[in-house]
Amino acid sequence: MGRFTLPRDLYYGKDALENLKNLDGKKAIVVTGGSSMRRGGFLAKVEEYLKEAGMEVKIFEGVEPDPSVETVMKGAEEMRGFEPDVIVAIGGGSPIDAAKAMWAFYEYPDTTFEDLCIPFNFPKLRQKAIFVAIPSTSGTATEVTAFSVITDYAKGVKYPLADFEITPDVAIVDPALVATLPEKQVAYTGMDALTHAIEAYVSTLNSPFTDPLAIKAIEMVFDYLPQSYAGDMDAREQMHYAQCLAGQAFSNALLGIVHSMAHKTGAAFSTGHIPHGCANAIYLPYVIKYNAHEPEAMRRYADIARRIGLGGTSEKAQVNALIAKIDEFNVKLNIPKTLKDFGIKEDEFKEKVAKIAELAVGDACTGSNPREITPEQMEKLFVCTYYGTEVDF
Ligand code: FE
Repeated sequence: MGRFTLPRDLYYGKDALENLKNLDGKKAIVVTGGSSMRRGGFLAKVEEYLKEAGMEVKIFEGVEPDPSVETVMKGAEEMRGFEPDVIVAIGGGSPIDAAKAMWAFYEYPDTTFEDLCIPFNFPKLRQKAIFVAIPSTSGTATEVTAFSVITDYAKGVKYPLADFEITPDVAIVDPALVATLPEKQVAYTGMDALTHAIEAYVSTLNSPFTDPLAIKAIEMVFDYLPQSYAGDMDAREQMHYAQCLAGQAFSNALLGIVHSMAHKTGAAFSTGHIPHGCANAIYLPYVIKYNAHEPEAMRRYADIARRIGLGGTSEKAQVNALIAKIDEFNVKLNIPKTLKDFGIKEDEFKEKVAKIAELAVGDACTGSNPREITPEQMEKLFVCTYYGTEVDF
């Protein structure tokens, strides 16, 4: 038995933000991050539209990147005091993720992260409030997904929350909010979206409901990412939709080991953080090569290659053409080909790779990868991504 869940309403396009005027409710709390939404004038607009809808409005500002348990608890407490019936989260992935967790603790003050961490074990939300998500980055697609990640810095652990209860009720995908994204972020988040769509398409949980979303997202990324990177605002708008389609696919089909690898290497090295989308972009070609040893995965990668118009007389040739196309994209977007080129030190890599490989195999995304992987194989795969050597196992 399968389940496919998306937000009830999705508003998109120019001035989509204005749809806030049509929401029903008495009190709205707006959860946001640093100051970019205020500086851009978007926070003021949100407040104005919600007031036009007849709501009393409270703002909760300052959700940090990689939001903490403390921020979630603080937000939930504010919500319990204010008693909103509408929660509006606006900003990058972090404030939206944080607001999802605040929502759970607002409605269920006695719940714990340990309980919420058990996949698909949430209590029933929407007893007190509905949830509206408005993304200001193009990549994570948290506005349409059943996921949130919260960090407990004291314990040094990340809580990955996964349940369709936290899939937002309303998503507002307004291109004005991504018009000023820095070039690097356009590249990284665009490749994150491509990875979401490709991993969802070959996932063991793929379905006739997620396939069309994934394929369309892949076509759109290949059509629009380079121009969006170059600053073309029409292409930027299409990328904002493409990442949202990819999110709808992977929220329901889950992901694979590109994400397992990115999750466990993001903060692993002393030379600095590897941005999530950049890590995905580096690993994706190697993982395709690894997964394509599984015939069903090979068939699906070949499908993708044909859909984006790549040639090749055999499935194997088509998969190789897809890998070459991704390599070509990474070059265009100034993304390094290997962890070595990214600047990870060889000594440190060698010292840590076995442990990282073991952790990556244990990541929540490994379960839906189309080919199984042992810690030894994972270590070999990481070594290939470090030196740029051929994946031949
Ligand atoms: Fe991702």
